[in-house]
Amino acid sequence: MRIAIIGFGAAAIGFIEKMKNSGHEIHIFEKSKDIYSSSISGIRADGKLFVSKEMGGELDVDLDLQKKLVDFWIEKTGNGDCERGSSFKNLYYYKTFYEKGFQPVISDFYHLGTDQLKEVLFNIFEEYKTLPDIHFHFESPVSKIEIKGDKVSIDFDDVFDKIIVAVGRSGHKLIKTIIKAYPELVLDSSRVDIGVRFELPDHIVEDLNKEMYEFKVKYKSKTGYMVRTFCNNPSGYVVTENYGDFTTVNGHARIKDKSKNTNFAILTTVQLTEPFNDPIGYGSNIAKMSNMLGGDRVILQTYSHFVNSKRTKNLYRVQPTLAKEKYILGDINLCYPRRIIESIIDFAENLNKAIPGITHPDNLVYAPEIKFYTNTLNNHEFKNLKFIGDCSGYTRSIIYATAHGYLMAEEILGA
Ligand SMILES: Cc1cc2nc3c(=O)[nH]c(=O)nc-3n(C[C@H](O)[C@H](O)[C@H](O)COP(=O)(O)OP(=O)(O)OC[C@H]3O[C@@H](n4cnc5c(N)ncnc54)[C@H](O)[C@@H]3O)c2cc1C
Repeated sequence: MRIAIIGFGAAAIGFIEKMKNSGHEIHIFEKSKDIYSSSISGIRADGKLFVSKEMGGELDVDLDLQKKLVDFWIEKTGNGDCERGSSFKNLYYYKTFYEKGFQPVISDFYHLGTDQLKEVLFNIFEEYKTLPDIHFHFESPVSKIEIKGDKVSIDFDDVFDKIIVAVGRSGHKLIKTIIKAYPELVLDSSRVDIGVRFELPDHIVEDLNKEMYEFKVKYKSKTGYMVRTFCNNPSGYVVTENYGDFTTVNGHARIKDKSKNTNFAILTTVQLTEPFNDPIGYGSNIAKMSNMLGGDRVILQTYSHFVNSKRTKNLYRVQPTLAKEKYILGDINLCYPRRIIESIIDFAENLNKAIPGITHPDNLVYAPEIKFYTNTLNNHEFKNLKFIGDCSGYTRSIIYATAHGYLMAEEILGA
């Protein structure tokens, strides 16, 4: 078979890893200039790998396969260097959070770090490019896919037996074009996560960081919304993420070069019903409004001002790790819907009961932090057009995306 993979990220890597010696001819079309490009793949930051049934995607991925894929990524560092932790396997912590109304998420964590990820991706590429059936085509953005009977074609009128779309979140334009041509592919589109990034001194969460590296809890707030922690970065850094027409906040940590602060997101899942069908538009507009107020910068506020709806003018004990030119001191209440703000405050106040110090008035809150879910796409609609990883709507993490690719290859090989 002649197979095209669009995008070279985690999902494509899972697919190729399983397919690589099967004798099928594999062509990878990647829009980035080369493997060193800073725009290649979502696996640039920050390399937290986890083994869990409770997060990372809507797929059922066997824990043994998850661990096998974690080992694959760690092995590609060349030195096995990674930080480890176990979230809520310790019954003491489990009970402490459970009693306060939280649902603790059980998982094992392995952290590679932003600095190591580049090398990992490079090492994987170096191996694949030597294989006779694998052909890389960089600087090849695909903007059109057409089903032609038993075959599928892409822009350059190249024809394949199967096309595996693995374009992640950054490939949303291609996905939009495909959905426009084949609307029957869409199974669901109604969710978006909107929240803030919290930053506080390491010592407040020191014990949890040591025990778990990443603590993940969910909580049903008094507003009815589900709220959760996401992407905890011990001794990490807050960064901005550019989506082209708006900027959001994010966080990461390095394996070396540590800060004195921990940051994590508090996210509210907004799930709307008919006639709503544009979660990406909803989230983007909130982000754009935040940027508009911030003069194209993200907004930074102290926790007490966030709660009391006052613009922050000065900081006190906690100093931000985000570069000064990227934020403005302001008031997030001017651009976030009340129900979302109330959900976040309810969550933080409750979290403070389990971790005293979370709601210190001078802790930092950044916005907008938004996580988009892509439409869930139907992989049974077409025999020769499949979607894997984040662009399929089934995954939100490196391990789940890798597993999705791996399982898709297994399915094709078994067929
Ligand atoms: C800042 C940040 C930090 C993150 N940290 C973590 C973490 O610590 N742990 C974790 O598990 N997950 C993390 N994630 C999520 C994780 O990166 C993704 O879930 C994962 O990379 C998804 O894999 P994927 O293969 O679906 O997409 P990606 O890895 O994003 O790969 C998609 C590839 O497709 C290419 N592409 C896009 N459009 C086209 C096109 N039209 N034509 C050709 N090529 C195209 C892109 O250039 C890219 O190389 C993070 C994401 C971000 C943005």
